[in-house]
Amino acid sequence: MPELFSAGLSRRAFIQNAGLGLASAGLLTSAASAAPAAEKPISLPPLGASTELDPGEPPLPLPPGKRLGVAVVGLGNLSVAQIIPAFGESKLCKLTALVSGDQNKAREIAAQHGVPERSVYSYSNYDSIRDNPDVDIIYIVLPNSQHAEFTVRGAQAGKHILCEKPMATSVKECRQMIDACKTAGKKLMIAYRIQYEPNNRFMRSLVQSQKYGPVKVIEAVNGQNQGDPSQWRLKKALAGGGSLPDVGLYCLNTTRFLTGEEPLEVMGSLYSTPGDPRFKEVEESVTWQMRFPSGILSNNATSYGFHEVRRYRVNAATGWFGMDPAFAYSGLQPMLSYAEGKIEHRETPILGQKNQFALEMDHMAECVILNKMPYTPGEEGLQDQVIMEAIYKSAHSGKPVSLPHITTRDTFRGTEPTEG
Ligand code: NAD
Repeated sequence: MPELFSAGLSRRAFIQNAGLGLASAGLLTSAASAAPAAEKPISLPPLGASTELDPGEPPLPLPPGKRLGVAVVGLGNLSVAQIIPAFGESKLCKLTALVSGDQNKAREIAAQHGVPERSVYSYSNYDSIRDNPDVDIIYIVLPNSQHAEFTVRGAQAGKHILCEKPMATSVKECRQMIDACKTAGKKLMIAYRIQYEPNNRFMRSLVQSQKYGPVKVIEAVNGQNQGDPSQWRLKKALAGGGSLPDVGLYCLNTTRFLTGEEPLEVMGSLYSTPGDPRFKEVEESVTWQMRFPSGILSNNATSYGFHEVRRYRVNAATGWFGMDPAFAYSGLQPMLSYAEGKIEHRETPILGQKNQFALEMDHMAECVILNKMPYTPGEEGLQDQVIMEAIYKSAHSGKPVSLPHITTRDTFRGTEPTEG
């Protein structure tokens, strides 16, 4: 966050901006506005020698009364195990409401996290969240087929929307979501956590700076062995597809993020084991290739039928680099290899880990406070949906599918994140 302030906005101005935005919406309590806010991170004397790893600055959070309030919609695995705990590491957001089909579970979680009972909603009274001044942002963490409905209703209730990936289950739904947020004058961000994560951002910097020369081929694999055949992820009406929109999307979105380019053409292939009860409605495995304007080729694989793999490798002219794991919540590991004389160097740099959900939520809050377009807006999710539909089309026809020629970089991305 210090970068935010050095980028032309002092912390005092940022806090005033936050206060102004919230006050004008009638959201600031007088106690909160009276809370003093630190201008810069607390300075601590270094413990290690100058040759030791720099631990970085301590966090610089907004005081609780000035943070933006977030309502989490859908209390399944991701919300309960990852997103709600991540508020503990957020600097700009706080959990202020819950929306669930199970009121007992929601009340229990509310009690654990200090959310008042009046801020616990069901899916049917969700729209009354418009009257809750403690909610600025709605974070949608429901099965994929419900993202569109809850985004549209949330925007119509006057709230900004952070929506989990995949954005929706069709291009039509993605457009409806973008239009609803535009009409309501609210932000829409898709929760592509990898694009805010420091190790992946380091990999992107190696691609963009051509540190190891021009990139030629990127290989990415993301898959896992899915269990219970009755789960929503294996129902076409709820998930929209199988491994591709769920885990394969990481290969697609991260390759686009690393290169900043959009594919000109895709070629796909898919397979589901006959008789496997898990794959009656959605596909098991997909492989696909993409061709990018600069000449970069990419090879991708995803599956719901193999043991967990989450990796990619970027093959450039004078070296290769990548991550294994790349797409996990933690324990990400970059790797580099390049030659110097007679020595082939293999490096496994340690950049440290940050909570990816806290980073993405804080970016969303920053964009709301400063009225900026999020780095991964609805248009970014729509573009992935367009490409996934082309991959399916190619797999079914056995022919490559061309996509609109987009030759500008980062065409669908908004404001660069300031942290990580
Ligand atoms: P989950 O099955 O654990 O939770 C889904 C929640 O939705 C449950 O609380 C369930 O009760 C509720 N729900 C409401 N209507 C439902 C219906 N008709 N059928 C089934 N459940 C219904 O799923 P999850 O893993 O928490 O995934 C939720 C969303 O988050 C998905 O869009 C998924 O793609 C996304 N996700 C993202 C990441 C990430 O790393 N960004 C990781 C996992 C999941």
